[in-house]
Amino acid sequence: MPLTLNQIRKNCQQARERMATARAQHWAFGAFNLDDEPTLIAVARAAKKHNAPVLVEVSQGEVDDIGLNNIRDLVDNTKEAFGVEMYVNLDHSPSVEAARAGIEAGFEFIHIDISQANHDASDDEIINATKAVVRYAKLTGASVESEPHYFGGSSNLHTEMIDYEEIKKTFSTPDGARSFVEATGIDTFAAAIGNLHGKYPVPKVLDLKLLKQIRQAVDCNISLHGGSGTPGHYFRDAVKIGVTKININSDMRIAYREALEQALKENPDEYSVAKLVSKYVVDAVEKVVTSKIADFNSSDKALI
Ligand SMILES: [Zn+2]
Repeated sequence: MPLTLNQIRKNCQQARERMATARAQHWAFGAFNLDDEPTLIAVARAAKKHNAPVLVEVSQGEVDDIGLNNIRDLVDNTKEAFGVEMYVNLDHSPSVEAARAGIEAGFEFIHIDISQANHDASDDEIINATKAVVRYAKLTGASVESEPHYFGGSSNLHTEMIDYEEIKKTFSTPDGARSFVEATGIDTFAAAIGNLHGKYPVPKVLDLKLLKQIRQAVDCNISLHGGSGTPGHYFRDAVKIGVTKININSDMRIAYREALEQALKENPDEYSVAKLVSKYVVDAVEKVVTSKIADFNSSDKALI
């Protein structure tokens, strides 16, 4: 059943209040990528078992595959069936139009990312598009997230090493963060402090000193993208510093694929791949989600 505008506004208001609570209590929402329905079940099971509030999120690829309204319905039905606190985020929305569609579909969180769609977008283009989404989000009260420039990597298993000297050039700066937040009025600043999309042959290193400076420079929420392949201690510290949303995708995808490959190998006569997914893959993805919930200090924080 589609949500009414009033229900959407209520959800968005609650999501805003919960982000503030997370910041005050030093825990973070895991924002877990929703590749398909089994992935959603894995997130819901982990959230239920550990009484953790969670976000699920989709990028444009999943929106094209599944559809915004189907995603909203899937999340609402699952939320109700499991009795969990769950919100939905439109991740890396490539245009103002795509972000507006997410707002209208009732997503509580909207990430507008003009620079990923166009690496050459000017500062003004990025600021103006972000401002337009912030303005439109007033319709429902959805929280808007963004960052001032392109953020590296892709949600996959990478074989190349991480060139920290190159990556450092793309780090957020406290002054840059402050002026971007002031210019756009966003609710959540996506910080770049060594986090990178994807999983690499070496563990990631986060600059927590820089994170502290950014935390002091801005008064809005702070998120970390590219959380996969990051040693857990960084998250535990980042959450203490005041990060309230951490995106996880690649770690789940890798667990998904490895479990599926193993299941196919062990069950050569089973042609219902969906059965194998539900029997083996969901558990593997759930384990990843559970370990992140522990690192994000979000166990036993759910409203329900
Ligand atoms: Zn991201």
